[in-house]
Amino acid sequence: MPRKIAAGNWKMNGTAASLAMLRDLAANLPDAGPDVLICPPAPLLFRAVDAAAGTSILIGAQDCHAAASGAYTGDISAAQIADTGATYVILGHSERREGHNERNRDVRAKIEAAWAAGLAAILCLGESLEDREADNTLDIIAGQLAGSLPNGATPENTVIAYEPIWAIGTGKVPTLAQIVDVHDFLRAELTDRLGATTADDISLLYGGSVKPDNAALIFEARNVDGALVGGASLKVADFAPIIHALA
Ligand code: PEP
Repeated sequence: MPRKIAAGNWKMNGTAASLAMLRDLAANLPDAGPDVLICPPAPLLFRAVDAAAGTSILIGAQDCHAAASGAYTGDISAAQIADTGATYVILGHSERREGHNERNRDVRAKIEAAWAAGLAAILCLGESLEDREADNTLDIIAGQLAGSLPNGATPENTVIAYEPIWAIGTGKVPTLAQIVDVHDFLRAELTDRLGATTADDISLLYGGSVKPDNAALIFEARNVDGALVGGASLKVADFAPIIHALA
């Protein structure tokens, strides 16, 4: 069985003061609930790990460089992330693919770097509205998966997040049937590539405008093992009910 995961992507939001929510969130988690992960901006990683100490909340980063070290001003390496005590890194988010021109092969190299540093990668995939309307969704997803996921994926080192670009931060959510279509497809592609024993245990998250009022319905979808949550992960009042809906 795949692990259930509720992952929060804070994007470029928050300061040290925002980390107070981790204690509050920890106090509002269900017994025997999903794995809960918070991915704050990089400058907060050390402090986030400290703030989450003694709770079950895991900490992740939002990107890493593909190289182990070197002359890459402004970038951070996977080993530097691991050094903070963080255990995950989001890679291939559409905001990185679009805003920083990351291609599949760049994402693949970053995942290899993350694995080499002992981090688990959350690989994000998703189609644009144009692709969706042209009925190209599954082709896009297949291409992103084939091009971005290195060989050697396991349920421990890889989580896949399906995030339609048109649903991120827009309040628009695909129908349950559209989510199931993509998640079933992802499971089948992973099975072809990795075999059922491995593929069946890889967590597949849905991301894009998950909110307290739609989470329970989304989590009913076949092959949805959790969510990658942006805006609604910033406040306990929004994120806790989403986590409870997954428990
Ligand atoms: C995201 O950025 O990964 C995301 C899903 O954002 P939101 O939940 O705000 O749509």
